[in-house]
Order: sequence, then C-alpha cells, then structure tokens
Amino acid sequence: MPSKKNATPANPAPAVEDPDAPPPPDPVPPVQVLYCAVCTFPPEYCEFGASLTRCKEWLKEEHPDLYDKYYSEDALTAKLGTLSVEAQSKLEKDTAKKEAKAEAKADAALKKKMASQVTIKRIERNKRKHVTSIHGLEAFGIDLKKAAKQFSSKFATGSSVTKNPQGLEEIVVQGDVSDEIVEMIEAGVGVLKGIPADNVEVVEEKKKKGAE
Ligand SMILES: [Zn+2]
Repeated sequence: MPSKKNATPANPAPAVEDPDAPPPPDPVPPVQVLYCAVCTFPPEYCEFGASLTRCKEWLKEEHPDLYDKYYSEDALTAKLGTLSVEAQSKLEKDTAKKEAKAEAKADAALKKKMASQVTIKRIERNKRKHVTSIHGLEAFGIDLKKAAKQFSSKFATGSSVTKNPQGLEEIVVQGDVSDEIVEMIEAGVGVLKGIPADNVEVVEEKKKKGAE
C-alpha cells in the first residue's frame, strides 16, 4: 500500500556552518613588493646599498610610515641596542665609507662626460681648399664610421675615419662644413645624438704663413 514518503530528502542537507568556526579570512590583497627608487633594493635592505642617505630621503618623502618603521629613534635604538658600541661605530664608519666611494664614482663619471669635448676643426689646406675634422664623438657613444658615412651622404663629399698625429681617431670631411656639422649636432641628426651643445667647440687651423 502506498505510503507517503517522508519529506526529508534522501541526501542529507549540506552541513550547516559551525557557528563556532572562525570566520573566513578576509581576501588577502596581492602582495606588493616595494622597491627603493634609489638603490632598487626593498627598503629594509637599503642599508646594504651604497646610497643609504639618499634612500632615506626618498623613503621619508614617499613612504613616511615605512620611514618611521625603519628609521625612527625607537627603531634605531631597538636595533642598535643589540650591538656593542664598537660595532655601532664600525657600522657607521662603513656606511659613510661606502657612500663616499659611490659618490666619488658617480662624480668621476659625470666629470669625464662633461670634460669630453667634441672639437670641430676647420683646417685650411691651401687658399681654396679646406677640410673639417671632428674629434671626440666616441666619448658620447657615437660610432665614428656611421657618423662619417652620414657626413659623406649629407655633404656629398669624402669623409673618413682617420688617426690624428696624436694617434686618436677622428673623422675628416672634405670641405669646410664645420658650421653645418655644429647645426647637425645641435639638432641631433641621425647618429649625432646626446651631445650637449656646451661640449662642442669649433676651432680654426690656418695654414701657417711663415714664422708666427
Ligand atoms: Zn634604497
């Protein structure tokens, strides 16, 4: 005989959440690693780089909360408290030394670049004939052969890379094109890029007329 089935479904109902279970954790935001814009290390490692002073300035400006975390009086006291006085003073000396070295290196590189002069010389061969020599382009990373080729096609004249009497390579272009070359450098035409106008000088070499 038919009997009314119990309304309870065959499968047990899904377990009700245990009210005692801990709440599900908040979704974790993706980990964002912060790198120091000065030394490229994560900020907690700046002290191992060679630019701690600038790193600290950057961090203070961009992430004051982290700056306080790493460099506040309390943070430093806590950290240094574990070191002996000698160790503290050695650490300070090492840091200063490392920074001085890195600064000197950067200075030297800049100085070298600033001292690199491109000299464009207008050379008189005889009354009618001039040549133009260009020296120093290589200091700005310019390929001399490519530059010579560029001059040659621009002025439809001979242009080659040669060694000057001092044994240094330079470009010699037939004809007096010194003004045009200065303009090309200032405009950064073709391969002639990255030379500050202040680093370009034009000199004249007159044919010697007897004793001077
Ligand atoms: Zn840094």
